[in-house]
Amino acid sequence: MTHSLSEAIVDGVRRAIGSFDETVLLHRPYLPPTAWQFVKECLDTSWVSSAGSYVTRFEELLATTTGCERAVATVNGTAALEVCLRLTGVEPGDEVICPSLTFVATANAISHCQAVPHFVDVSASRLSIGPDALDDRLRKVAVASPEGTRNRETGRRIAAVCLMHCFGHPGQLREIVEICGRYEIPLIEDAAESLGSTYEGKHTGRFGKVSAVSFNGNKIITTGGGGAILTDDHELADRAKHLTTTGKVAHPWEFRHDEVAWNYRLPNVNAAMGVAQLEILSELLNAKRAIAGRYADAFAAVEGAQFLTEPPDCQSNYWLNCILLDPELAESRDGVLEALNASGYQCRPVWIPMHQLEMYRDCPRGPLEQTESLSRRAINIPSSAHLAPGWAEKHVR
Ligand SMILES: *Cc1c(COP(=O)(O)O)cnc(C)c1O
Repeated sequence: MTHSLSEAIVDGVRRAIGSFDETVLLHRPYLPPTAWQFVKECLDTSWVSSAGSYVTRFEELLATTTGCERAVATVNGTAALEVCLRLTGVEPGDEVICPSLTFVATANAISHCQAVPHFVDVSASRLSIGPDALDDRLRKVAVASPEGTRNRETGRRIAAVCLMHCFGHPGQLREIVEICGRYEIPLIEDAAESLGSTYEGKHTGRFGKVSAVSFNGNKIITTGGGGAILTDDHELADRAKHLTTTGKVAHPWEFRHDEVAWNYRLPNVNAAMGVAQLEILSELLNAKRAIAGRYADAFAAVEGAQFLTEPPDCQSNYWLNCILLDPELAESRDGVLEALNASGYQCRPVWIPMHQLEMYRDCPRGPLEQTESLSRRAINIPSSAHLAPGWAEKHVR
């Protein structure tokens, strides 16, 4: 069974993106010629570090691209998320509800605030927090207190819900926003993977009080390493800037810092790369849609595996394409991965769920059936923009 399934899946990938002499990487960044030009300008003028005009341009472009009032660039996405949590009022000893099916940064950022991740299950159609799972969990453990909603089992305050838009597919925002409102728990979006994804026409990252995006090397655009905090709240954005720039009080020459803060600034040379890619984001998004369309067609005929498509009323950035093996075929996953990688297609399983990692084993959690099932049968397949039909001819470099 594994054998014919593997063959069918390798064949599906080949029909969608073609055959190549070299290994096809899971996700390779595309750096347009302007990236070289802008970075060179930083080097020529020696404006390479934390001050410089590209950081401001990058932040402005991010705000216009997402429709957010403000964007504050940071050194990486984990740092952005940590600051988001702090800005939302997460304190040491609090709990933050998040998925277990996520990249470790989500849980780490919560831990860096000396808070405790509290895992709830995801929905199988989107791979992000399921409204029913969240509602059931809160119904079971939530109790109102003067300081906010508490977990009656641990006594800790539930200070935030952190929704992650998995592989760029927007989560069930309408329902999650409603539930958070009902329990008066602030919502934060881990939009690290969803730059360019919209929910009912509105960009992801605009539904929470404050959100984080990432520009790590494998994300839809990259600044080498980098991230940003998004918000519509000017006061929060000013706080974010202050907290990420050492708490320095603006002054032409004096060094006065008015609180313990971080140096989480994005250097100018990194922002320069980001500006170049943000300027062509719509082209990248079109390319990603085209690849996803090819995969959807190719996998329509493959029995036992299903290509994950964007949810209704959403536009996904299709950052990382994903196929799901049927639940009864989960055992075949490693064989399929071996066949794909041996055929020159770099493919990998989804993350080991957080509650199965040593350091997060004892965290509070609801039932995680979907998380465990999906983690055994999801496979990410090559997703670089340059795999889109016609991309190579248009982008010689
Ligand atoms: C990439 C990513 C982050 C942030 O990661 P950095 O590498 O610190 O930029 C956070 N959450 C998720 C889900 C991610 O995929």
